[in-house]
Amino acid sequence: MSTTMNEYQLKYIELKKQYDQSDGDAEHVQALYEYKDFLEEQDTPEAKWVLVDVCDTLKLYKTAYEILRSLVECADRKSLKRLGKLQSLKEQGDHFALRRPKDGKEQERQKRLLDTLPFFKYHPNPLETEAFIQTDSPVTCDCCGNLTKIYYESPFYAVENVDCLCPECISSGKAAKKYDGEFQDECSLESGVDGKDKTDELIHRTPGYNGWQQEYWRTHCGDYCAFKGYVGYRELKQMGIVEEVLNDSVWDDWGEERDEVIKNVVNGGSVQGYLFQCLHCGKYLLWIDCD
Ligand SMILES: [Zn+2]
Ligand SMILES: [Zn+2]
Repeated sequence: MSTTMNEYQLKYIELKKQYDQSDGDAEHVQALYEYKDFLEEQDTPEAKWVLVDVCDTLKLYKTAYEILRSLVECADRKSLKRLGKLQSLKEQGDHFALRRPKDGKEQERQKRLLDTLPFFKYHPNPLETEAFIQTDSPVTCDCCGNLTKIYYESPFYAVENVDCLCPECISSGKAAKKYDGEFQDECSLESGVDGKDKTDELIHRTPGYNGWQQEYWRTHCGDYCAFKGYVGYRELKQMGIVEEVLNDSVWDDWGEERDEVIKNVVNGGSVQGYLFQCLHCGKYLLWIDCD
């Protein structure tokens, strides 16, 4: 160990060790983010160098690149080499970064916004799943012609080309009726639900989600589940529900291989996970597909 190791580096090494040992659970991701906040407030090069490491670990490659670039003007060859590596990674932006566990403030803001929208029981947080897009400059709903700052694009299976729908036209069934369209293919639903009303609400009055392949809607306890969002193994691990989603008959065909398969599920990767939750017993269920 170098004798020039400073307090910032020592702290980072400790946090990184805990993060690696925990295989990336939420508590240790949060600790890294908090340390990132702290380092950003320090105005010394020592702190900035360590900030690059923290951002690198969090896969915030673009951010790491930018901080490093400001530091390397008179830096050594090793740092220049690292800058080159981050430069190639920064193309993906911070898109694949480990997600920061949401703090109270951001949750409050989202909740307030969500309260202004119609409620979709099979897709309860379309803001978080990004089924609904938020924009500062209002767009026109194709169905009702009203201006909206929150809108939906896809999937919507209809003959006519529909680009933009407001939440109200989805929730009221107006859009499905006007265009004779469906937000979820009726032929791609897990069995086990009786009652036409439930299916009608799901396919005609609920925003869908975007799969690599044909979207599939999970069911449990005799009803459709709520779509919770896009996940990979890392997110499931952070939520502490890996065991829960593996305890599901959809994995029966995989046998022992399932433990390996689930580790290869990456949010935004070529094996994508879609998370559902039962509205009645609360169980989490997973669906996966490949690009
Ligand atoms: Zn509308
Ligand atoms: Zn259930």
